[in-house]
Amino acid sequence: MKYEAVIGLEIHVELQTRSKIFCGCSTAFGAEPNTNCCPICLGLPGTLPVLNRRAVEYAVKAALALNCQVQEKSVFARKNYFYPDLTKAYQISQERMPLAWGGYLEVDFPTGSRRIHLQRVHLEEEAGKLVHAGDSILSAAYSLADYNRAGLPLLEIVTAPELHSGQEARLFLEELRLLLLYTGVSDVKMEEGSLRCDANISLRPAGSTGLGVRAEVKNLNSFRAVEQALNYEFERQARILAEGGELFQATCHWDDSRKATVVMRRKEEAADYRYFPEPDLPPLVLERSFIEAIREQLPELPRERRRRLQEQYGLSAEEAAMLVEARELADFFEAVAESYRDYRSLANWVQGDLVYRLRESGKSAAELSPAMLVELLELLDAGEISRPVAKELLAEMVKSGVSPKKLVQQRGLGRISDRETLLPLVEQVIAENPDAVENYRKGKEKALAFLVGKVMALTRGRADPQELNRLFREKL
Ligand code: ADP
Ligand code: MG
Ligand code: ZN
Repeated sequence: MKYEAVIGLEIHVELQTRSKIFCGCSTAFGAEPNTNCCPICLGLPGTLPVLNRRAVEYAVKAALALNCQVQEKSVFARKNYFYPDLTKAYQISQERMPLAWGGYLEVDFPTGSRRIHLQRVHLEEEAGKLVHAGDSILSAAYSLADYNRAGLPLLEIVTAPELHSGQEARLFLEELRLLLLYTGVSDVKMEEGSLRCDANISLRPAGSTGLGVRAEVKNLNSFRAVEQALNYEFERQARILAEGGELFQATCHWDDSRKATVVMRRKEEAADYRYFPEPDLPPLVLERSFIEAIREQLPELPRERRRRLQEQYGLSAEEAAMLVEARELADFFEAVAESYRDYRSLANWVQGDLVYRLRESGKSAAELSPAMLVELLELLDAGEISRPVAKELLAEMVKSGVSPKKLVQQRGLGRISDRETLLPLVEQVIAENPDAVENYRKGKEKALAFLVGKVMALTRGRADPQELNRLFREKL
């Protein structure tokens, strides 16, 4: 029997507000443990939460970018449970009336592009962070609790079960990350936990509909872990089904060092969180005009930008994707393209030498001056510098930030085309290469290119090849 994977993701995104969702504490990452918390985010008795307006704006912005129906009225609820990272013993979240319903994200898969539908998007608060003393949560001798994270604004995005492989789940998440980055609502740093996901997966006979018994892999915090964990779960479940065994609904943990999922608990029935409307917060009521004003501010999103880059500059789909993915590079490309019209040549320089030099120097394209690249390409087009010199100057320009014109002056790298300088070199090369000279005289044109190349080498690529051709012909 062949099986098909059915996957749905629950994604958590930390919104990049300056203060927490219900109090004024800083959201800065990496502060001393337990220095960014107060009685409100710790949930001490007698304190009152006040909703952060910016968090709502960001949540609405993300929901609109994801084509969701943002609700004019949503309700915060208490989700009650005990866990050491939650001093309040409840989390303020949204349950029956979330901020937004529906929506979708269109993703390019190897099999073609598809809309992956979303079930809901809602706002909630982040819990604290436990640091386990041991290599995993399962073997930790003890854990330390840091409540700096408690109360950060969190957006939860839940997809329909419409993904069908670990690879598709990864591609979906990469596209989602890029979209959130473009909207500016989160720094989406998976390595710092500001984007992470729980992955639900079940199997069904290929070609059938309906849903099988699922396992939920908790807290995946890298694209690679998502893909690997889902591939592992697919194999595990397929083996059990192939042997005629029975699956039970389970909650799993991905053990990255062993590259295996570990079943943490059976999930017989939905946990009862005793949800009830949060008595300390009124329903969240948004005016249409507030929602529409945010829609107006939506920037161009990755998918539109890829299409526009192809149309406007004649880039291939791959080139456009590569630029959009590295947003600063795309911004730089477009800034240069405003005053430099040979887009083909520009694209080649950006994707080739520029990307290489940026990686080498550890810099971002945002640190470069577009005008300097324009200057460099114009020097090249005007024949004032040769291609090898242009490459050298680009490297130097990225490293030092000095303008190409200055570098040419400082180092005397300009094109050499004056007869007085070139003639002695031509004569020297003729004297040193009698065989090539003889071959040329016998009619071998290739020999001329060889001789020109010798002078080019002597001048480190600066001599004007046309002038050299003329001088050699004259002399020979
Ligand atoms: P819970 O809140 O208990 O985790 P939900 O019903 O809200 O459960 O579903 C959470 C996620 O699991 C959603 O992304 C949904 O698409 C996915 N999902 C639900 N049932 C299945 C299934 N049988 N196989 C795969 N994914 C599923
Ligand atoms: Mg879940
Ligand atoms: Zn606080």
